[in-house]
Amino acid sequence: MNAWVLEDIGDIRYKKCENPEPGTGEVLVEVHAAGICGSDIPRIFRDGAHRMPLICGHEFSGKVIEAKGAYANDWMGKRVGIFPLIPCRCTDIWISDLPKSVRKKWAASDTI
Ligand SMILES: [Zn+2]
Repeated sequence: MNAWVLEDIGDIRYKKCENPEPGTGEVLVEVHAAGICGSDIPRIFRDGAHRMPLICGHEFSGKVIEAKGAYANDWMGKRVGIFPLIPCRCTDIWISDLPKSVRKKWAASDTI
């Protein structure tokens, strides 16, 4: 796949990357549109990311082109929009207190 990759602060490159492989219960999405979030700007130009290199873009939409698991047939070909923060629901705290979240993969790429 091709992706915009943040290699270092201020150093973002469009390049070929390893194709993502969905696991059981996951889907592969062909990205049709990805936004630039306000949180991306300082990440790219000032602060960097917790882990580099990083494929930027965490708000995106596209089409499911591969799916694995029990509901795979239900997801194939669907148009999807991805919300970047998903509650882990590992405790009851996320409901009333801290928004415990798991950040999923990012998508300034052609597939994710
Ligand atoms: Zn955002």
